[in-house]
Amino acid sequence: MRFTYCILFLVVGFFANAQQFNDFFIDKTLRLDYIFGGNANQQNIYLNEMIQLDKWHGRVDNLAVTPIQGNGQIKVYDEATNKLIYVLPFSSLFQEWLTLDQAKYQFKSFENTFLIPYPKKSVRIDVSFYNAKNEEKILAQQLIDPTDVLIRKSTQISNQYEVIHKAKIKNPIKIALVAEGYSESDMDAFMEYAQKTKENLFKHKIFNKYQDSFEIVAVKTVSKESGISIPSKNIWLNTAVQSNFDTFYSNRYLTTLHTKLLHNQLESIPYQHIIILANTDFYGGGGILNSYSLTTTKNKEFAPVVVHEFGHSFAGLADEYFYAQDVFENKASLNTEPWEKNITSLVDFSSKWKSLVDENTVVPTPNELSKEVKIGVFEGLKGNGLYIPTLTCRMKINNTEDFCPVCNNAIEEMILFYTQKKVKK
Ligand SMILES: [Zn+2]
Repeated sequence: MRFTYCILFLVVGFFANAQQFNDFFIDKTLRLDYIFGGNANQQNIYLNEMIQLDKWHGRVDNLAVTPIQGNGQIKVYDEATNKLIYVLPFSSLFQEWLTLDQAKYQFKSFENTFLIPYPKKSVRIDVSFYNAKNEEKILAQQLIDPTDVLIRKSTQISNQYEVIHKAKIKNPIKIALVAEGYSESDMDAFMEYAQKTKENLFKHKIFNKYQDSFEIVAVKTVSKESGISIPSKNIWLNTAVQSNFDTFYSNRYLTTLHTKLLHNQLESIPYQHIIILANTDFYGGGGILNSYSLTTTKNKEFAPVVVHEFGHSFAGLADEYFYAQDVFENKASLNTEPWEKNITSLVDFSSKWKSLVDENTVVPTPNELSKEVKIGVFEGLKGNGLYIPTLTCRMKINNTEDFCPVCNNAIEEMILFYTQKKVKK
């Protein structure tokens, strides 16, 4: 009798600790459209619209934890108990813009769209930014009643799509490849690049290892005109998600400011992560954590760049290269360890890849030793006090085969986070 009692206690204890998806959520998505606005001194976040989508396509475990911090986070709390029930780290164009000179004297706003599982009961949603010192500041707090009649029901804009890679697990990581700048008659070409995207992704050994964990769909979003807008050449075109080059006046920085339009295009699509494939041979791209990545298809560097950008948007990896004209905060001078797993300021190196570095390796590691030293601490981001593990990573150069071991580990951790019941923190 005592034995049975003990077992019962253990079982109850286990379920009390393990947060179940069904305890707090139903199998639908709540899409949150926000406006982030302000300037370098003051930022505001406003809820713009809420939409209910028919199904939830994200993770069903590890709901209240995250393997990475991000530049900001959405946190969902059960209102009745104040229990944290979902976390979504993100980065945003608005936060990049804040680091520019013009943010000192101008106000500007940007759209940001996030997907969370649809809550069963009332929730409080906090949206916070992390500053360069990794200090969190909550900028928006909102109570949301899931029965609110003004939460728009999905209108099912029905773009055609094809599943081009099937998963073999129950709750896979769902990626939508979105056509941008492809007219009706260009769609065969888009499908070819969609296939190539899949092939390039799985050429990288960490994605190859977990092929069965991914489901990839190609979405045939039709553009009225062929090609992509290039403002510095006075080219503006009518395209599916209205992307353009010259973001922040940087020629090769290709983004879309229209995240509502992007997600409207995907209302009937099974998706969580987004890779936009742009119909141009102009070099460029962009990738923003848990927002989207965007790559040009006809450029000869397409194959490595599409995977590089996905490294940003999927795993929150930092660039391991540095261009003088790039927007780049000098986090090292603030005596802070950046949150991105593949760069270090050496302020807290043991939280990064220190355990992978041979104890005889010189730190920082001179570039001349890059052939002998497999994993070191190279001054790859010249002049800004940040260091990288190798000189030959996908996050640094196009002319290389794969990610460095540190990026590999970070991507693997993210894949397991999305697909396995419990992961180490
Ligand atoms: Zn790397």
